[in-house]
Amino acid sequence: MAQLSSLDRLRDDALYLSNVIGPRPAASKADERALRLYKDRFESLGLECRVEEFAFTGFEAEDWRLTAEGSELPSLPCVASPSTKGSLTAPVVDIGYGTDEEIGDVKGKIVLARIGKNHESFKAEKAAEKGALGMLVFAEEEKWGIYTGRLRYPVGSIPALCVSSTTGLRLSKAALHGEAKVSIKINAKVRDTTGKNLLAQIKGRSSEYAVMTAHRDSRPLSPGANDNVSSGATMMEIARSLADKKLDRTLVFFSTDAEEYGLRGSLYHVDAHRDELTRCVANVNLDSVGQGTVHLVDKDRAGPLSPALNGFVTKVARGMGIRVKSRSWQNGSDCDSFMTAGVPACWIRGWPTTSFNSTMDTFDKLDYKLMAKMARLGARVMEGLADPRKWKRT
Ligand SMILES: [Zn+2]
Repeated sequence: MAQLSSLDRLRDDALYLSNVIGPRPAASKADERALRLYKDRFESLGLECRVEEFAFTGFEAEDWRLTAEGSELPSLPCVASPSTKGSLTAPVVDIGYGTDEEIGDVKGKIVLARIGKNHESFKAEKAAEKGALGMLVFAEEEKWGIYTGRLRYPVGSIPALCVSSTTGLRLSKAALHGEAKVSIKINAKVRDTTGKNLLAQIKGRSSEYAVMTAHRDSRPLSPGANDNVSSGATMMEIARSLADKKLDRTLVFFSTDAEEYGLRGSLYHVDAHRDELTRCVANVNLDSVGQGTVHLVDKDRAGPLSPALNGFVTKVARGMGIRVKSRSWQNGSDCDSFMTAGVPACWIRGWPTTSFNSTMDTFDKLDYKLMAKMARLGARVMEGLADPRKWKRT
């Protein structure tokens, strides 16, 4: 067969992982198939692979239902939502973005919150503290699909469903007139299960190493094309372009699992390898690189990321004629696990994004030229980090 271009491979991988294999929650059969694809690819490039298993608490919803005035509305359960005891019926109160200032008298109510400003798990916990019985959450900009939210790990305090913005705004209007009353029913279970990290390496001469992370799992019911097939496919391209290089430092390509449960795979890894991490000179995290333009996250949920490493990436990009912008981000990603373990970490992502953590996060919404650019940049960055003359751990 004729040689495939980088763009062809990125498109093939995105189609297969997000649209055929489909939603890949950690420890699911689909996640296992995705793991096999990544492992086969890395091994075909000559990289040494190992799979690292870890225990975590997963979530599975068997059935759920949101009804208003007797008819069912489209919804899906938030990850880590507790089950309802039978059916829960209560009036709806709109709490905006669910920040501390916005949550007023919610006792005995089902709160309606928008995604943004803080993580949805915080909105639910704060509302629960004030006596709310349940939560409905939606992303305003997600016109057609449903944002797939998550509550506090391993299980949140109140049952919560996600709805489309159409449903959310309709309920908001009705709530304003005191006419919104809904029933929620969720039958879900949390269970102890096993996640699988995949680590593939290009062996260097020294004992030092740099690690690139990209989480493999998606939220249940999200095809997770941008979040995070875009990064997994890009990381495989980066490994391809560096596989035959003679490097000083080792490069590790780390496909993490259960990131969507609160960074479980990367947290397990940094905890289990504390001693080795003194030899880890940098972590470059890719999360949601398939839409918008090239961005570096300067600060995320866990605090500021490494300014030195961000400076290094920016300089490499400048040398390639790639413009990098920076922004803060309310959520976290696997870079946080490395950063809190003392390793300089950065997060490359695309922004703005059009289909984030959504049922509509599909392969047709990815910008493959952007991903090819991310792959070129990522390869140059990792090659630089493998060279002790170019990068020293700060
Ligand atoms: Zn992600």
